[in-house]
Amino acid sequence: MFVGQVGIGGSHLVSIQSMVNVPIEDINGNVRQILGLCSVGCEIVRLAVPKPTDVISLEKIKSKLRSQNVNIPLVADVHFSSRIAYDCLGVADKVRINAGNFAEKFGKSFDDMRSLALDKFSKFFEKAKLANVPVRIGINGGSLSERMLKKYGNTARGMWESAYECIVAANRVNFHDLVLSFKASNVELMVEACRLACGEMDRFGLDYPLHLGVTEAGNGQYARIKSAIGIGSLLLDGIGDTIRVSLSEDPMKEIQVARDILQATGVRRFAAEFVACPSCGRTSYDMQRVLEISREKIGKLECARTMKIAIMGCIVNGLGEARDADYAIVGLPSGRVNVYRNNDCLAKDVEPEAAVTTLELAIRENS
Ligand code: SF4
Repeated sequence: MFVGQVGIGGSHLVSIQSMVNVPIEDINGNVRQILGLCSVGCEIVRLAVPKPTDVISLEKIKSKLRSQNVNIPLVADVHFSSRIAYDCLGVADKVRINAGNFAEKFGKSFDDMRSLALDKFSKFFEKAKLANVPVRIGINGGSLSERMLKKYGNTARGMWESAYECIVAANRVNFHDLVLSFKASNVELMVEACRLACGEMDRFGLDYPLHLGVTEAGNGQYARIKSAIGIGSLLLDGIGDTIRVSLSEDPMKEIQVARDILQATGVRRFAAEFVACPSCGRTSYDMQRVLEISREKIGKLECARTMKIAIMGCIVNGLGEARDADYAIVGLPSGRVNVYRNNDCLAKDVEPEAAVTTLELAIRENS
């Protein structure tokens, strides 16, 4: 499936998303923030569209971006109002709806409400199909519908059943451009819901792409750890097609975290992979400094992007890591270091900072 020009699912790369945090009527503010996000590697951007009149703002933002040849896909984030969702189909590259609040204001019994909800979803998916616009069914642990909460509680099962209703409704009108997300601030619940969804899709012979994220993760280090555990453990299971790291910070900061999660899980490669020991009493040189300047000088080199570089304090683990790495610096008891390429010693007994220059030159010369 494609969202604008970005492929999601199947053999496409796991893409990185973020969401702007300025009001949509601030056209220039949105354009500025989106350009900033693009400059750091964001691949899909979402905008909240809370009022019917905001669809016009979305259109203006899109047109300003496109006039500057910025083609990042724009996703309209819609809650509560099906009318806004319909209007967004004419503008956005994808529409995100929340199954918990899209179609819940009518009916008495669970089955009554379900049947009416299915009709409402089907009508919307029919229009989405005509407009050729994919839809994300965003299931959030914090906003399941009342009837789902009553029947299943705030559980992974309740989250899956909410999504499954939408899948059934989409199937009725032969619409298959769906992306599913199962988010929660509770990492365990989010992971459980995504795993359950994958198992259920296998059981029903379905294969919709998954958007991963730990919602309301907060800020700072703890938010990054929560996102890394939630998103990372699923990626390691082979689950996930697009990710958003939610931080209560400048959205641009989400992108580096997302990239680091993708790189650490081996899903994508953005920069050289550095391996470094924590150092200990055997370390005889300023290893932290050498690691820092190596990252500065080599970390951004395109020719080093696929390389593994080891910075090791001593030979205890250093030689083993050097064998596995493309390049390595390994400390000697004298306070000096050796530089290795693959298994060969490139430079023996050199000053640590000079070793970084040797490393950089060797990488550049051999690229
Ligand atoms: S590689 Fe050497 S210096 Fe580094 S932690 Fe291990 S023993 Fe210590």
